[in-house]
Amino acid sequence: MKDNDLIIPCPACDTANSLAEGQEAKSAQCTACASPLFTGQPIHLTAARFNAHALARGLPLVIDFWASWCGPCQTMAPIFEALAAEFEPMLRFAKVNTDAEGELAQYFRIQTIPTLSFIRNQREVARVAGVLYAGDLRRWLYGALSEPEEEHASL
Ligand SMILES: [Zn+2]
Repeated sequence: MKDNDLIIPCPACDTANSLAEGQEAKSAQCTACASPLFTGQPIHLTAARFNAHALARGLPLVIDFWASWCGPCQTMAPIFEALAAEFEPMLRFAKVNTDAEGELAQYFRIQTIPTLSFIRNQREVARVAGVLYAGDLRRWLYGALSEPEEEHASL
């Protein structure tokens, strides 16, 4: 792996794949399981998978903390999915079910759902609570992508 290679964790098996600069990310496959590295769908993140995805350097991660009983979360879900397809391979989209993954919800001190957390190079650089519609979500994502990360504490 070279320093300027981008590390892409596989959405299916969590293996860290190294993409050379200029290599087409959207059509790349996992070296371990041959799954596409980008499917246009959010991944379902658990505590066991968290480090592989959230602590990977290079590929930013946006997490939607949700629960099945939460009405606003249901409103948010298709919007979040649509933008996953739009923003890949710039970003990885992930969902955390706060009922199943209480440990992760607690680690992030989630007070209300839906909450979105944006992680880049092992730091949470932005967070927003409540439903964001597509236009606002898109603006928020571009804002988080350009946020200087030095000002934020490591995870
Ligand atoms: Zn894989």
